[in-house]
This record gives sequence, structure tokens and C-alpha cells, in this order.
Amino acid sequence: MTAERVDALVATASDGIDFDGLRVEATDDGYAFETPDADHAGLDEAVLRDVAAGSDYVSNWYVWHAVVPQKPDRWAFLRWLEGADVDVDADGSDVVARYDALTEGVTTEWGQLSITVRLDEGGRRRYEVRHVDDVGRDGLDRYDDPLEARDLATHDERGRYRPLKAAPSLRTGWQFAALDPTALVEVVEAFYPASVPNWYREREGELDVTHWRETMGRQTGMYGVVKTWDRGEGYEHVNWVAEATCDDSQCLKRREWQYDDETDLDVDGGDGQFPCREPCSVVVSGARKWTKLESEQPRTYEFELTPSEKEQLEEVIDAVADGRTDEIREADVSDGANRFRARFLRAKLFDDEGNLAGTPTDRET
Ligand code: SF4
Repeated sequence: MTAERVDALVATASDGIDFDGLRVEATDDGYAFETPDADHAGLDEAVLRDVAAGSDYVSNWYVWHAVVPQKPDRWAFLRWLEGADVDVDADGSDVVARYDALTEGVTTEWGQLSITVRLDEGGRRRYEVRHVDDVGRDGLDRYDDPLEARDLATHDERGRYRPLKAAPSLRTGWQFAALDPTALVEVVEAFYPASVPNWYREREGELDVTHWRETMGRQTGMYGVVKTWDRGEGYEHVNWVAEATCDDSQCLKRREWQYDDETDLDVDGGDGQFPCREPCSVVVSGARKWTKLESEQPRTYEFELTPSEKEQLEEVIDAVADGRTDEIREADVSDGANRFRARFLRAKLFDDEGNLAGTPTDRET
């Protein structure tokens, strides 16, 4: 690669180079070559080639102009991964420090991904990706083809389909060991679709957000019913949706959409690294169901519950909503959502038709 980058440098020198502390130009007296560590003028081409051959600054310039994808969002993301997206120090020493760090490896988290970039023996950047919970673990299954990331992202640890790719439910046990820059971004985008372009748009102040009202207003067909949910007063129902689905415990994106352009929701959008610019399909399909359920009129039912039974129902709902039921030990009967406690309550309160306290639902049709 040394010969390629020196050839490229010589070919570009007549246009002038000024990047990350490296300055090269062709003058009437020969080539000028300047870095924080070196200052040469009046070089002929052969000497310029010698000077450039061992320079990290030349290597760095070549990588960012001829190796990594030149799409602005991908380019910026790869720079960010190695801490190169800050302004160059006055003395340009960040390239030297960065190359030292890259020799050891620079690790960044992106959602549940741990991404490490390091220089291989040929001085090329190679990226390793694994689950954050697998950092420091050996014996992971190795993958090389970015397309395989799509399969890894499809099901969780227990083999259940993941409808929301940004859910914090990525399975563990895998590793992409030595990706090139293009393949790295493909892997990241397979795990978290659109996360890189949206992150970049937000950094550039160009994130185009589509709020709840607009998204629901354009639903058609079987989803068209969600428009009717917005016809009442207020937006409290949208707070409930956002609290149910967009909370950090359920989704690693940071919700930037609101009720509409002028009305922010009351619930926090979360702390995710990359933004969510519009209600996703999981939210829209949940909203369709809730639109139907919330169109029902309340009725009054009378049940007799002991205070502990009322609290137990609340604990069961909390445990299910927080995805905690698998963690409750069978022996822990102090937890209201304990399986034996729930089975006891069902045995005591349900009749043979499954009615709570023998009270029929008596649904109006
Ligand atoms: S709408 Fe909510 S749940 Fe869906 S991706 Fe955005 S933040 Fe996540």
C-alpha cells in the first residue's frame, strides 16, 4: 500500500494537500512537504517519495481519501469511531497520537455493538465487532460476510423474532473479526438500519423529523384507523404509546419525534446515541391495536380482592411490562409475579370460563 499512497500523493500534489496536519504543494522550486514533525521545501519527486513513504500523515491522508467510503455519512462515522472527527490540534499531533492508539485498538459502543478499530500489520484499518456483553470473551463464532449480520439481528437469544431492530435484545456469542471500512458500515447498518445516516444528519443539523400527527395522518388501508385516535382532545394517548415502546429499556434509539411540530410529548425521548426520526412500524401497529381497544367505553365491574391481591395484580402487570418474569425464581414467593403466586390467584379467583371472580365480561357487540 505504501507505493499506492505515495503515487497518489505525487499525483495530487499539484492540486495541493492540506489535511490533518499534512501540507503538500508543488511550487516552482519543487515540492513542499510539511507535517508537525517535518518541514521540507524544494524537493524533487524522488526525494518527495522518500519523505512520504514512512509518514503516518501520508498514510492517514490516503486512507481518508482513497480507502474509506467517500459517502459523507459513512466517512464521518468512521472518523468518529477513531476520534478523528475533532479539529486537528494546532500542531497536528493528533495523527501521531491517533496512530499510536490505533496500534493498540480504539473501542467505541454503538447500541449493543462494541466496535474496535486497529491497524493490522500492513497498516490497514481493520474493524472488530461483537456484542458489548461479549467484550473480553473468547470462543465466539466468527463471521466475515456483512450479510450474515442480518441473520444475527433477526432473532434474540431465545430464538424469538425481533420486530424492532433497535431493541436491546441483540443475541450474544458472535464476532466479526477483521472487517474493512466498507464492510464495517454494512455490518453496523444491518444491526441498526439507518442509524449512521440519521446520526450524521443530526450532527449536520439536517435531521428531518416526522411527528406523530403527520405519520398517523398518512396511514392508509388497515392502518388508516389510527387517524381516528387523534380526533379527541389532547395527546395523552401518545405519551402512553411513547412510554410503552420508545423507553430506553425497550429501544436504543433516541426518540426525536413529538406529537406535532408545536407540541412536545411529556415523556423523555431517552439517551440513545442515534436518533429516531419518525414513529416506526412497531409503534404504528401498536397504535392500530390501541385505537381499537381505546374506542371501547369503560364499564363498572365489581370484584372483591384482598389488599394483597390488588397489589399482586399490580406487581404482575409491572413484571410483564418490564420483561422481568423470567428472572423471578420459583422459590421467591415474596414476589407477587412469582409463578406459584399467580397460579394460586388464578385458582382462587377465576371460574371455569376464565372470568375474574366469576364475573363475565359481558361485552356489548
Ligand atoms: S418509534 Fe420509538 S420504538 Fe420505534 S424506533 Fe423510534 S424510538 Fe424506537
